[in-house]
Amino acid sequence: MSCGKIYDIKKAYKKKAKEHHPDKNINDPDAGEKFQEMAAAYEILNDTNSREVYDRYGIDGLTKGGGGGGMDDNDMFAQFMAQSFGFGFGPERRPKGNDTTVPYEVTLEDLYNGKTVKMNLEKEAVCGTCQGSGARGNSKPKPCSTCDGKGWTTFTAATANRDRMQVGRGQCRDCKGAGERLKEKEKCKKCKGEKIVTEKNRQEIHVERGMPDRYRIVLHGAGDQRPGAPPGDVTFLLKTQKHESFERIGDDLVTHVTITLSEALLGFDRILLTHLDGRGIKVTSPPGKIIKPHDTIILRGEGMPIHKRPDEKGDLHVILDLEMPSNDWLKTIDRRVLESLLPPKKKVLEPLPDIVDEVPYEESDIGELRSSFLDGGLDGQFGDDDSDWEDEDGEDIEQPECRPQ
Ligand SMILES: [Zn+2]
Ligand SMILES: [Zn+2]
Repeated sequence: MSCGKIYDIKKAYKKKAKEHHPDKNINDPDAGEKFQEMAAAYEILNDTNSREVYDRYGIDGLTKGGGGGGMDDNDMFAQFMAQSFGFGFGPERRPKGNDTTVPYEVTLEDLYNGKTVKMNLEKEAVCGTCQGSGARGNSKPKPCSTCDGKGWTTFTAATANRDRMQVGRGQCRDCKGAGERLKEKEKCKKCKGEKIVTEKNRQEIHVERGMPDRYRIVLHGAGDQRPGAPPGDVTFLLKTQKHESFERIGDDLVTHVTITLSEALLGFDRILLTHLDGRGIKVTSPPGKIIKPHDTIILRGEGMPIHKRPDEKGDLHVILDLEMPSNDWLKTIDRRVLESLLPPKKKVLEPLPDIVDEVPYEESDIGELRSSFLDGGLDGQFGDDDSDWEDEDGEDIEQPECRPQ
């Protein structure tokens, strides 16, 4: 920018300032505001290197009274401020209606089998009575007198180092940024001038097979409406309920099956479990194999359907829990016969310790011991390293997304 240009700005400003000075515009109630707005804009312009707006539109571009470049004055001001200072302000325009997120609880069965749900939702809809004008009959809203129809008002604020003032802009309080207002009796009866009404509508959502936990089903355009803007979206956020027998880990499932001592020793050939779709799952254990407590087997292709590829499935991991026979059963048994069938008992300890004390047999609850120990805060004595480790790291590690909570 040349010296000539700067001189031009000064000259143009002085001319405009004279023109808009409130003393010379006694009949214009907004003259004072216009003058201040222009003065503040000039101050900024004069102080910065961003004079593009002046170069392009002249001083008129800085005042709402001018008609520079055929642009809408409001846009011009907003553009000037935005270009010069990167302020994100201007007439407030919502790109579309509000988006709505609805948490939706699903069972593991729903996610395994798929499900279509119909539900009633409330949303904001453009008022049908006034077609979104907010006005009754042929009433027309009048420009808001507070902001002169702009929807915003200016304010000045000191810069950070307080050496000068900057012009800012805020939404008009009286018309909430609309730039126009209706008298009470001119307002639409149905929406009371709000242009929108709350409406119930029925939505159908499709829970697809294999959708992960926290999956978002988005219904585009099903959300809130606003006059002159595209409607918002409704998002259903899936939350999987805890299942009483299956745990989902990604596309795999984990479950527990209890087998008897006989099955552990002699094998099984039976329906082990009922699956999420009601099918019985029959498994035959290999002959000659003893099953130890908590042995795990994998049933290939019996996990969750893979989302978008429902013909493919993950695996089902079955943890085999061992159920020992009851005392009542033992009463019916010839113990000598049983002993002769079972492997031998443990031998007496050798070499025998010098001192052997006889201590009474009493059942205990080790879990209770641990929990009362932790509650009492007597850390360290039993050196419970595992729980210490979990406490430290547990907060940072997020739960895997697909794991039921
Ligand atoms: Zn209405
Ligand atoms: Zn207003």
